[in-house]
Amino acid sequence: MIKALFVVSECAPLVKTGGLADVAGALPAALAKQGAAVRVLLPGYRTVMGQLGKTKTAARYKDLFGGPAKLLACTVAGLDLLVLDAPHLYDRDGSIYGDATGADWPDNAERFAALCMTAAKIASGGVNGWTPDIVHGHDWQAGLTPEYMRKLDAAAPFVFTIHNIAFHGIADAGKLDALSLDATRFTSENFEFWGKISALKAGLVGAAKINTVSQTYAEELLTPEFGIGMDGILRARQGDLSGIVNGIDLEVWNPATDPNITPYKTPGGKSANKKALRKTFGLGAADGPLCVLVSRLTEQKGIDLLLDALPALLDRGGQLALLGSGDPILEIALLEAADRHENLSVKIGYDEALSHQMMAGGDAIVVPSRFEPCGLTQLYGLRYGTLPLVALTGGLADTVINANPAALARGVATGIQFFPVTAQALANAFVRLADLFEDGKTWKAMQRNAMRQPVDWETAATTYAGLYRSVLEARP
Ligand code: ADP
Repeated sequence: MIKALFVVSECAPLVKTGGLADVAGALPAALAKQGAAVRVLLPGYRTVMGQLGKTKTAARYKDLFGGPAKLLACTVAGLDLLVLDAPHLYDRDGSIYGDATGADWPDNAERFAALCMTAAKIASGGVNGWTPDIVHGHDWQAGLTPEYMRKLDAAAPFVFTIHNIAFHGIADAGKLDALSLDATRFTSENFEFWGKISALKAGLVGAAKINTVSQTYAEELLTPEFGIGMDGILRARQGDLSGIVNGIDLEVWNPATDPNITPYKTPGGKSANKKALRKTFGLGAADGPLCVLVSRLTEQKGIDLLLDALPALLDRGGQLALLGSGDPILEIALLEAADRHENLSVKIGYDEALSHQMMAGGDAIVVPSRFEPCGLTQLYGLRYGTLPLVALTGGLADTVINANPAALARGVATGIQFFPVTAQALANAFVRLADLFEDGKTWKAMQRNAMRQPVDWETAATTYAGLYRSVLEARP
C-alpha cells in the first residue's frame, strides 16, 4: 500500500464549507481500494475537536506559530485522522476561515502555515513510526507544505490539487520570518507573487504533479481569464498538470437509501419528495419544472444572472426553491425577489439534510456558475434524477450531456448546458428546460440516463493512485 498524507483545511463529515470537504471525506475510502492508504491532516477547529471521541497524542510541539500544539490521532467515520490541536490558532468562534462578520481571520497565514509545517514534520520524521510515501495537499491552505518539507529535508514527493484557484493565500512580505519561510526563495520563480507571499504559488512550484478537479478547468486555468494570475506558472508546468473529475460519496448520496428523503430507485419515486419539498418551501402546485439550487452565494456561482433570467422560468409555470448563504447583498436581493414572486422561495442558511431533500424533490438543479472547477451539486442531481441545467464551464462541461438534437436522437442526454454565461443565455435555457419538461417521455428518458451515469469515486481514485505511482517511480 502507498502511504499518503492528505493536507487539507476541511473534511466531511467533520467540517465543511464546500466541495473540498466532500472530496477530502470521500476520496480516502476510494483510494484504499486502489492501493493507497490515506491519513488526513486537518486543523483542530473548535467544531472538529468536539467530534473526535477517543484520541491518541502522536506528537507535541512546544511553539507552533505562537503557541503549544499537539497532534492527535483518531478515527472518525472511517477516516484515519491526524488533527492539529493548536488552540491559539483554531479554538475560536466564527467560521473556519473568518470571524462572524465574514472577514478573514487576520492570522490565516499563520493558521495554515502551522498545518503545512506539521505536514512537513510528519513527512520528515514520521508519527508513531508512520512516514508517508507521498504528501498530497489541497488548495492554498496546504500550499506552503513543500517549502517546509524542503527546509526539513523530507523526501516524499508533494502532489497538489487545485479545487479552486480563486483563493491564493496571500500574505505580506513582512511575514516571511514569522512564517519561517526562506527569504532567499522569495522570488518570482518561487513563492513571491507581486511583492507578496502566495501560498498557492508555493504549492504550484513545489509540486511534483499538479491536478485540478476536471479536464476542462485544467485547460481553462491556462488562460488569463480563469488562471487569475497563476496561468503563467501553470503554462510553464503544463506537462505536470492534469484534470481528474471528482466523484460523489454514494453512501451519502444515494436516493435508494438516503435517510433524509422518501427513498426511490426510479424517477417515478420522486413525486412524494416533490410534494414534501413544495410544502417545506411554501410553494403551491404548478405545471412547470420545480428547479432547485444549493450553493454558496457568491459572484462565482452566477446568482445575479439567475435573478435576471428567472422571469423566463416563472413565465412557463416553473418554480425555484433556493438554499444558500454568503454575500449579504445577494442574500437580500434573493429574499426581495422571493417577496415579489410567489413561485420563488429562498432559504438563507446551510442545511445538509434540506440539501438532500432538494435533490430528491426537484425536477432540475440549476448551476449557473461563471467558473466551476468541478461542481458537486450537478453530480448529486444526476444521481437523484434531478436534471442539471448548467453553465458550459469547468466540470459542468465535463459531467453533463447537453440535450442537443444529436444527444436526444441518440438517447444519451442528461441535462442542459448554456453558453455564454449570461442572463440571456440562461433565460433561453429555462425555456428549453420548460419545453423538455412538457415532453414527458423525453424527460423521463433523460432522468433514467442521468441516474445511470457513473458518478462514484472509482475512476477518479484509480487515476489519483496512478498519479501517486508515477510520481514515486519518477523519483531519482
Ligand atoms: P464549492 O466547493 O465551490 O462551494 P461544490 O459544488 O463543489 O461548490 O460543492 C458545494 C458543496 O457544498 C456541495 O456538497 C453542496 O451541497 C454544499 N452546499 C453549498 N451550500 C450549501 C447550503 N447552503 N446548505 C447545504 N449544503 C450546501
